[in-house]
Amino acid sequence: MPLLGCIADDFTGATDLASMLVKHGMRTEQLIGVPSAADTAPAVDAVVVALKSRTAPVAQAVAESLAALAWLREAGCRQFFFKYCSTFDSTPAGNIGPVADALVAATASGFALACPAFPANGRSVYQGHLFVGSALLNESGMENHPLTPMKDANLVRVLAHQTDGTVGLVPYATVEQGADTIRRAMTMLKEQGRRYAIVDALNEAHLFAIGEAAAAHAVITGGSGVAMGLPENFRRAGLLAPNPDPGALDDVAGHAAVLAGSCSRATLLQIATARERVPTLELDPLAKPDAAALAAQALAWADSRLGAAPVVIAASAPPDRVAALQAKLGREAAGALVETALAAIAEGLVARGVRRLVVAGGETSGATVAQLGVRRLRIGAEIDPGVPWTRAEGSGPPLLLALKSGNFGAPDFFLKAFATRVAP
Ligand code: ADP
Repeated sequence: MPLLGCIADDFTGATDLASMLVKHGMRTEQLIGVPSAADTAPAVDAVVVALKSRTAPVAQAVAESLAALAWLREAGCRQFFFKYCSTFDSTPAGNIGPVADALVAATASGFALACPAFPANGRSVYQGHLFVGSALLNESGMENHPLTPMKDANLVRVLAHQTDGTVGLVPYATVEQGADTIRRAMTMLKEQGRRYAIVDALNEAHLFAIGEAAAAHAVITGGSGVAMGLPENFRRAGLLAPNPDPGALDDVAGHAAVLAGSCSRATLLQIATARERVPTLELDPLAKPDAAALAAQALAWADSRLGAAPVVIAASAPPDRVAALQAKLGREAAGALVETALAAIAEGLVARGVRRLVVAGGETSGATVAQLGVRRLRIGAEIDPGVPWTRAEGSGPPLLLALKSGNFGAPDFFLKAFATRVAP
């Protein structure tokens, strides 16, 4: 029976959290969208429900989060984690505040901590202010984000705008003193009537201490960093047995392929690196803006090349080519065309026996997973930080999938992925 139930406000964020929990000893499964009553609870230690609620209308984000909570409670989870981005991506309307309010109310817990810090990725919180590297959040580029511009680094103030509750701070000097002191500070804030505490964290020792201090909390909110301290609480309570290989997956035999729809710099470099070593097809959606024709071309090319060594099929292009397609079709239609083509290619590849598939791009991954009818991902070994192998189950045959957010991964990621051991 799962111990920890998590609700993530986007897909790759969910995988990032799931991978963190595996790394710290919990067998973890990710469910895509709100599970239905007919979905059985997986036999793992932690479940992460991946929503797409970060920029959804507030009422929808709250309703889906509450539905996920109800399912996770029914599944037996004892503690709940609300995962958002380590840059606190939100607007004055939400959705971090409204979703947290709903979860705190539904669990009658009255209080939750909020800590997006992730020092390994340069996100730290000091005196309630979020830094990205050495820059304040509102001077980090995030102030220009198209959907969730972050114009204030003071998270106490940011969260206060999103809730009818009040927000306090557990400052660095308290966090530095360890779990007992942090626990007392949070209890005091709760007794003073605060609904939230932004908790400072500058390093992993802080995150472990915060996790320990929150052992008895019904709801915890934050980035994946603060989750690293939670598995130990369950081990300490005798609920979680030490597990030397929580990411072991049942292997799946079949052909290998990479599909890339991300145009991020890291992905373009990964394609260039793979091109030297394995068969690589670069699609030209500008010359042929027709999803069915692009898919047919790619599958005909792949037919004679599929095997144990990966092939790479990429629509990815540098900024000028992307801009040209967007000018021709409009921004949304250009993205949709390429996503439709790549999802159709994924389906065709699976029909041709591909069972190990790397997908590059957040939106591209979402479209692919939907097309393949994937409902659950059992989280396996990490290839590069934040990107694990997963074993996907749904309406099709079992698959090994690695879903990579565009900017993640080293230049040799596509080759490294297939050299990473999946089974024990
Ligand atoms: P990332 O994780 O890097 O943001 P995404 O998959 O989320 O990657 O987003 C990339 C978007 O760019 C997708 O909508 C994809 O369909 C689109 N795209 C991919 N190749 C091209 C191209 N050649 N021209 C225009 N848009 C493209």
